[in-house]
Amino acid sequence: MKDIYLDNAASTKPDSKLIERVSACMDKHYGNPSAMHKSGYQAKMFLDEQRERMAKVLGGVRFDEIIFTSGGTESDNLAILGVARANAKNGKHIIVSKIEHHAVLGPCHKLEKEGFEVTYLSVDKYGLINVEDIKKALRQDTILVSVMYANNEIGTVQPISEIAKIIEEHNKKIKINNLKTIFHTDACQAAGYLDLDIKKLGVDMLTLNGSKVYGPKGVGILYVKSGIKLESLMYGGGQENGIRPGTENLAGVAGLAEALEYADSNREKESARIKKLSDKLTEGILKIPKTFLNGHPEKRLPNNVNITILDIEGEALLLHLDEKGVFISTGSACTSRSLEPSHVILATGLPYEAAHGSMRFTLGRETTEEEIDYVLEVLPKIVEDLRKISPIRVNF
Ligand SMILES: *Cc1c(COP(=O)(O)O)cnc(C)c1O
Repeated sequence: MKDIYLDNAASTKPDSKLIERVSACMDKHYGNPSAMHKSGYQAKMFLDEQRERMAKVLGGVRFDEIIFTSGGTESDNLAILGVARANAKNGKHIIVSKIEHHAVLGPCHKLEKEGFEVTYLSVDKYGLINVEDIKKALRQDTILVSVMYANNEIGTVQPISEIAKIIEEHNKKIKINNLKTIFHTDACQAAGYLDLDIKKLGVDMLTLNGSKVYGPKGVGILYVKSGIKLESLMYGGGQENGIRPGTENLAGVAGLAEALEYADSNREKESARIKKLSDKLTEGILKIPKTFLNGHPEKRLPNNVNITILDIEGEALLLHLDEKGVFISTGSACTSRSLEPSHVILATGLPYEAAHGSMRFTLGRETTEEEIDYVLEVLPKIVEDLRKISPIRVNF
């Protein structure tokens, strides 16, 4: 059997049509979009066409509200650091959830060292934020709220438009300095499955990247509502309105536009197909004793199955599955090389020992029912063998 790739929350496989488009673009649009000759002009036109395509996927925003970046990490950094530093004179308070990606938490930790104050909101056992907690945390000097659309580890989907409404109400009441609290969401994991209409979501800023939507890696966007002040993280040529200098990644951007359009037009059909497979996988794994699902039972990404299997080491299970050609993840790919348990799983209240046995299976466009059947065939035996030699016993 060919390899079974169930790690689509870490990275997705672009299809051959997309790869062809990207390489055709590298061939055709080699001119620098900032150059004054025809080749440069054509490249600039092409770049703006890609911006238009993405603006449509976001529900018809202005095309100059889209900033191209090198991926989700840069977009998140630019959103958090950029807004904080440009608006510091209005206030120095920021609100985020405890289960944000490190690309959001890292900049927050940096800002704390620069004199900002960050409130880290707790989540419930399903990884869900309580919107009332946001209401309570908002202050006169809150300049930014950042809550991810869907979590990359447990798949929980947050009530983004409800949070937006609370922030809007709060903004009506603020008196000092015409301060507005800005609302950012990291939508990297949501892009393939959830609505990205900016107006419906009610957000001011939104992060997307190519690697999670079957596009190229190393390319992303930050949507920034016009009027929002943002300080650049880099200095150089004046590209992207001076916010993000550097010669634009034309091929990457074209690939991302293609990927987002595809995701947008196939969202419902693909979500329904993949949910059936996820349900089958979940039900199958939960038949193994001492297992439970992490994340919300319904408010979750249709392709995410995160399950804790007690009394084993997640890493050992991962390696045994790897041997059988099945690729999964423990925690998030970025942290799983360290053996620290995931901050997301811990935030849902699981004890340390149980967090170690949480496994993430993320299905993708190429996942088939045969593959799921195969996993369900080999997994129980591996768990049984590992439990025989495991010194860990967790009582729940
Ligand atoms: C992958 C991911 C990122 C980081 O994106 P890169 O393109 O790898 O820099 C940020 N946030 C979330 C939710 C992600 O899943």
